[in-house]
Amino acid sequence: MTKIVIVGGGIAGASLAIALKRQSVDVVLVEKDPHWTPSSSGIFLYANGLESVRTLGVLDAVLERGWASDGRNVYLTADGSFITETHYPSRDPARVPPIVGIKRSDLHRALADEVQRLGVDIKLGLTVESFDDQGTQVIARLSDGSEIACDGLIGADGIRSSIRERLFGKMTPEFTGFGTWRSVHKKPKEIDVKIMMMGVGKRLGIMPISDDQLYIFATTNEPSKPLYDTSRMHEIMREKLAEFKGPAAALLDELTSPEGVLYTAVEEMALPLPWSKGRVLIIGDGAHACTPYMGQGGAMALEDSILLAPQIAASTNLAATFTAFGALRHERCSFVRKVSRQVGDAGGKELPNDVDARNRRLQTQGQSDVDSFYARMFAGT
Ligand SMILES: Cc1cc2nc3c(=O)[nH]c(=O)nc-3n(C[C@H](O)[C@H](O)[C@H](O)COP(=O)(O)OP(=O)(O)OC[C@H]3O[C@@H](n4cnc5c(N)ncnc54)[C@H](O)[C@@H]3O)c2cc1C
Repeated sequence: MTKIVIVGGGIAGASLAIALKRQSVDVVLVEKDPHWTPSSSGIFLYANGLESVRTLGVLDAVLERGWASDGRNVYLTADGSFITETHYPSRDPARVPPIVGIKRSDLHRALADEVQRLGVDIKLGLTVESFDDQGTQVIARLSDGSEIACDGLIGADGIRSSIRERLFGKMTPEFTGFGTWRSVHKKPKEIDVKIMMMGVGKRLGIMPISDDQLYIFATTNEPSKPLYDTSRMHEIMREKLAEFKGPAAALLDELTSPEGVLYTAVEEMALPLPWSKGRVLIIGDGAHACTPYMGQGGAMALEDSILLAPQIAASTNLAATFTAFGALRHERCSFVRKVSRQVGDAGGKELPNDVDARNRRLQTQGQSDVDSFYARMFAGT
């Protein structure tokens, strides 16, 4: 039986563990967080990501915990005036909603429960400190001093992947000049749609993530990559986003403590091909982290797993399978990263004429932009 060691139990690693187990591949999952718990903010999964979740067999668990939207996305100005609305598609809305908003910890629970139910060998609080690709097998050396002999090693350890660094040397993720602010709130009954408020150099989104909670995600231009005082995160988030009125105002007023307020400098990672060397491969954010503006990073990680698992199971030459996998995914992940960055750049416009042009484009071309992006997402790998 083929044996694979996965390093990292995030969306990429956990989903790959499930997909491989379903193909009767022996899996060891090594996760450095002893509690295996991600941050408590929200995440959206759009239809292509949800199709992967369905293939993994965990869509019901995700729908039980999250908030399924009919795909409507309402754009407002910072003062709350209506700009336009767009509709996100699903290929099969009766089975897969266009969008689900969910707490990250709830998405993780749905994946982790399935990993555990399938009997994956999970090693928490550990990492792979070194590995030796011997051509016919890989010896992974764990931080507790133990060794595992396996057929292949997959680095699913995120944008700062240590496995990538060991394979290809140090690579620094590219800072995009944006920072995101996130917080979770009690959901007022009247908010039952995804809202995007487009300000000047700033935008703020509101999206339910369960029947009784919603999530704010805002982006500001932060070209100097500042480090903010974590004890004042709530005040800084309120100050930065003070011009957002309408549905945002009351939610921002609720920010009275730094607990649960997350600030993240937005980065990208574009690992050039090949994504593998011999029997060691990088997937997920370690290979192709994109900005969050299309909500596609998690979906790309899920797609990696769904496509890779049957290829590993059927492989007679893992090194060749890994090389071919990177080549198969590179173009699509680059396309998503490019579109996401364009959306981010449009949201960051500061000059009045540029802001007007951006809002007019949303009105005239917003829906066709969504439709053409998803036509591409639904068309293949
Ligand atoms: C602000 C923001 C908002 C986002 N919003 C969305 C969204 O709405 N929808 C969407 O689809 N995507 C979104 N994304 C992107 C998404 O979060 C990532 O693409 C996704 O989490 C990538 O999954 P991953 O498993 O590759 O990496 P990660 O989620 O980073 O997981 C890596 C895992 O590896 C573990 N690990 C790290 N190093 C080691 C090591 N040395 N040894 C062992 N384990 C290790 C970590 O603890 C973690 O569990 C967003 C990203 C950001 C920054």
